[in-house]
Amino acid sequence: MHFTETVYRSPYWPTYPLLQVTQGCTHNKCKFCTMYTGVSFRMQPMEWIKEDLQELSETVPEARTIQLLSANPLCMSYDKLAPILEMIRQYLPKIEFIYTVGRITDVKNKTVNQLCSLRDLGMSEISLGVESGDDWTLKRINKGYHAADILEQCHKLDEAGIAYWMTFLNGVAGKEHSHDHAVNSARIFNQCHPMVVGTGGLTLFPGTPLLEEAERGEFTPLSEKEMLEELKTFAEILDRDCGFITHHTISGVNLTGPDFLGRKEKIIAALDHEIKHGNLDRMAAIRRNKQTL
Ligand code: SF4
Repeated sequence: MHFTETVYRSPYWPTYPLLQVTQGCTHNKCKFCTMYTGVSFRMQPMEWIKEDLQELSETVPEARTIQLLSANPLCMSYDKLAPILEMIRQYLPKIEFIYTVGRITDVKNKTVNQLCSLRDLGMSEISLGVESGDDWTLKRINKGYHAADILEQCHKLDEAGIAYWMTFLNGVAGKEHSHDHAVNSARIFNQCHPMVVGTGGLTLFPGTPLLEEAERGEFTPLSEKEMLEELKTFAEILDRDCGFITHHTISGVNLTGPDFLGRKEKIIAALDHEIKHGNLDRMAAIRRNKQTL
């Protein structure tokens, strides 16, 4: 298999087989991310993709799922992506679910009809690293789109019948804008139909512009307690019938699972309990030991 540079695979989808179709991130400018720093973007050569599929057809001919890598393969135009999906079906005829990751802007270059066609070719779930639905925050962290773009592009996916995950990056607005980040993100997410809402907590990694800003006093990170308070505000307003995933370590309670609405009260009560009684030093220590997003 031809795996080059940094590759990210979602741990929430079947993690095998994997097929790398792009390298690096087309944007590479989010202020909190170093995952693809120094990795130039390119499409993997079609010859490599073909060879990898040939290998998979020999090793996992019965595969029913496949994850496309790396940062945002959805960036490819329809004319480039569709032939790859067709090739996957040719080499792995039993494939039913093709999973991939994308940015909001990656949906923009495709019409609803093209998205329908990608769905018919097996593209069933997309993870969108949305991070915030608050315009001030999106600009502050350099995401490269606005809240209105999130609505427009997610509605296209709704129309095409492609399921999508949306992420909320807890803490990324800093202290100054935490409340608006939580409230406006939940309001925007409520106008979409995510299959899953995933929440990760901000860690300031070395080499990120956001850490440099924090060191200069231009960005004030949230404490662990404030992170939980922000997440609680977000969860209180979120009213989508979706799965819910959080990377927060809540003592004794698993907040991750399906049926957010059915579990909403329990999730909020658990967050509330953790805010009042949680071992916040332990949470901070876990965050300090994180190596990557
Ligand atoms: S967060 Fe996602 S879109 Fe932003 S630079 Fe990192 S990989 Fe690229």
